[in-house]
Amino acid sequence: MIFNENNYETSRRGCIEVICGSMFSGKTEELIRRLKRAKIARQRVEIFKPAIDKRYSEEDIVSHDSNAIHSTPVDNSHSILLMTSDVDVVGIDEAQFFDDGIIEVCSELANNGTRVIVAGLDMDFRRVPFGPMPALLSIADDVTKVHAICVECGHIANYSYRLVDSDRRVLLGERNEYQPLCRKCYLKHEKEKEKEKETEHDTQNT
Ligand SMILES: [Zn+2]
Repeated sequence: MIFNENNYETSRRGCIEVICGSMFSGKTEELIRRLKRAKIARQRVEIFKPAIDKRYSEEDIVSHDSNAIHSTPVDNSHSILLMTSDVDVVGIDEAQFFDDGIIEVCSELANNGTRVIVAGLDMDFRRVPFGPMPALLSIADDVTKVHAICVECGHIANYSYRLVDSDRRVLLGERNEYQPLCRKCYLKHEKEKEKEKETEHDTQNT
C-alpha cells in the first residue's frame, strides 16, 4: 500500500504513524521527508530523539546521508509531553532507545489531536523486537516498514548484522559495526560465527 499523507496533512486529527526497519533502511530519511512536508504545509513541527544517540551533532537529527533537520535530545519520554503543548506534528527518531513510557506519550499526543510520526529499529542485531517498538507498531494508525539492501546478495535486507563481537544490545555505529543482510545471508553468517567459536574452543582445549 502506498502511504497516503493527504489524510494527515489536511486535517488536524491526531494519529500515530510508525516507520520501522533495519539499519540503513532509510527510516530517518522517510521521517525527515514527512516532517519537511508538514513544515511546508505551515504546521508546527517538533522533533525529539533519545539523548543516548550522540553520534552526530547534539541538536540535529541526522540521517546517514546527512539530510539534517533540527531536533531536541531528551532524557526520558515524559519530557516530550512538556515540550509539545503548541505543536501540530511531533517527530520521534530512534524510538527503540526510549523507555516504555513513550507508548503512553504517543497515545496521549494523538488523543489530543497531534500527528505523531515515530521512526525506529524494529529488531536488534539478534533479530529480537527492540524496546517499545512492538507496542508502538501495535497502537499505530499506520505502519511503514522500509528495507535496506543486503550487502552480500542484493536482495531486500531486514536485519542489522553486527560485525564486531559484543553482546551489548546498544552499540551505536555505522558501516564499521553493522551491515544490512537478508534472512539467508544473516543465517549463513551466524553459522560461520558459530563454527569459528567452536574451533576456537577446540584449540583452547587441546
Ligand atoms: Zn543476502
